[in-house]
Amino acid sequence: MTSPLCDNLNHRRSNSPVRCCPKCGAVVNARISTRHCSKATHDRSRRNQNLFCVDCGEMLRRDTSGLARLPH
Ligand SMILES: [Zn+2]
Ligand SMILES: [Zn+2]
Repeated sequence: MTSPLCDNLNHRRSNSPVRCCPKCGAVVNARISTRHCSKATHDRSRRNQNLFCVDCGEMLRRDTSGLARLPH
């Protein structure tokens, strides 16, 4: 039995069209292989209000605490 991490629609689908949940980044369909994303892909995804890339599961938010974690 699996408990969904968030209430995103993709967790309820038995065959999700995306690999990762755009809201929590969890893999919802492991049968879809990870894609190599470009910056443009992530920019577009971010504009769609996604917190995570649905293709590779990478966190898209960089305006809050993302930059603070960069080594100088
Ligand atoms: Zn989720
Ligand atoms: Zn990606």
